Amino acid sequence: MFWNEDYSGLARERDARVRMALDDAGVARETRHDAVHHEPGTITTNAGDPYAVYTYFWKKWRDRDKHDPFDAPTADDLAAVTGADLPTVEELGFSEPAADVQEAGTAAARERLAAFCEEAIYRYDEDRDYPGKHATSRLSTDLKWGTVGVREVYEATATAKAEADADGDDDAVGAVEEFQSQLAWREFYTQVLWANPEVVDRNYKEYEHDIEWRDDDEAMADLQAWKEGETGYPIVDAGMRQLKAEAYMHNRVRMIVASFLTKDLLLDWRHGYAHFKEHLADHDTANDNGGWQWAASTGTDAQPYFRIFNPMTQGERYDPDAEYVKEYVPELASVSADDVHSWHELSVGRRRQLAPQYPDPVVDHSEMRERALSMFKRARGEEEEGASAD
Ligand SMILES: Cc1cc2nc3c(=O)[nH]c(=O)nc-3n(C[C@H](O)[C@H](O)[C@H](O)COP(=O)(O)OP(=O)(O)OC[C@H]3O[C@@H](n4cnc5c(N)ncnc54)[C@H](O)[C@@H]3O)c2cc1C
Repeated sequence: MFWNEDYSGLARERDARVRMALDDAGVARETRHDAVHHEPGTITTNAGDPYAVYTYFWKKWRDRDKHDPFDAPTADDLAAVTGADLPTVEELGFSEPAADVQEAGTAAARERLAAFCEEAIYRYDEDRDYPGKHATSRLSTDLKWGTVGVREVYEATATAKAEADADGDDDAVGAVEEFQSQLAWREFYTQVLWANPEVVDRNYKEYEHDIEWRDDDEAMADLQAWKEGETGYPIVDAGMRQLKAEAYMHNRVRMIVASFLTKDLLLDWRHGYAHFKEHLADHDTANDNGGWQWAASTGTDAQPYFRIFNPMTQGERYDPDAEYVKEYVPELASVSADDVHSWHELSVGRRRQLAPQYPDPVVDHSEMRERALSMFKRARGEEEEGASAD
């Protein structure tokens, strides 16, 4: 029996049990490293420790030789599975997804990869943060489920880079490298989780005291509003509705909604992680956990606790024409981009006039920002006064 190594704590426990069962049954087994280019534990600090800072990890990852993809096995190489009593997908407890997910499978993944490497990859660094441009590769679900391998993705980007290099187009070369650095983020978080399996439900970074996340009834009502995309913060609601509709959310917006949950609603990142785990087609324990703990200021390489995203400014900067908001929040379709991005500051009367169906903000950003700063200062054992804020 052959399989690929998987690196989360749960996967390693499962695979250890499978190994034992196969040994008991006298079945020969072999494993391969296929999910990442450089398996956890092979890129380390000079002292031999796993990296906790991405930048240093990236430099070593970038400079290591990459494997070429393997040829697919021929039918003759594969064991014939006949007469096996395999359960159906429904019997395993899965049903049709409610979300409109993008087409799955290797053929669709290869098409996505080829289309992305034709043009969009050369503008990736400029466009990737603008959700309305739909300028990223959308390969996360394929990489997660292995319908396309990371060696194949890397090889296609290396070819794109060589072509840009031959044309002397340094900007395009830089854009491809920016994309490759995202593949390295995936491997960075894989090795963080491999080295610290407990972070799946614990803070990576220890504070002196527990962080006093809100958890009363009012907080749970706010959590519900966040899940439903009904917070009255348009860019947040657009993201949460994209998640529900497509089982996917753009990266910049994932950062915005995660910051909003933890720093505006003061809710524990674990609520957000659980919701993402349930809804994302690309849910990956390492990346999801890394993303959440980064936003909550509890992770490796974390966002400093005093740097809190302002959801209005983020919307204005990354969705200036409110294209993305309008795509997912139809109640705001005929509201001007200026009014969308200043929704929070408009009078109640004006809001009713512009979009009677769209909610008022559930919290006041400036007030919650101050509360978040105090919450983190208390967790750090600092005085209320004196810590910096941006
Ligand atoms: C709170 C939060 C939760 C997240 N949860 C997940 C998750 O469950 N699964 C997941 O694959 N990514 C997750 N990400 C990372 C990132 O948002 C997605 O990988 C990206 O949006 C997928 O879209 P794409 O394939 O078009 O990305 P592209 O921009 O085209 O990137 C190419 C590939 O690089 C990898 N990648 C890109 N950004 C990151 C990143 N920040 N961290 C790790 N890998 C990255 C992915 O495999 C992605 O497919 C999360 C980020 C945040 C802030």
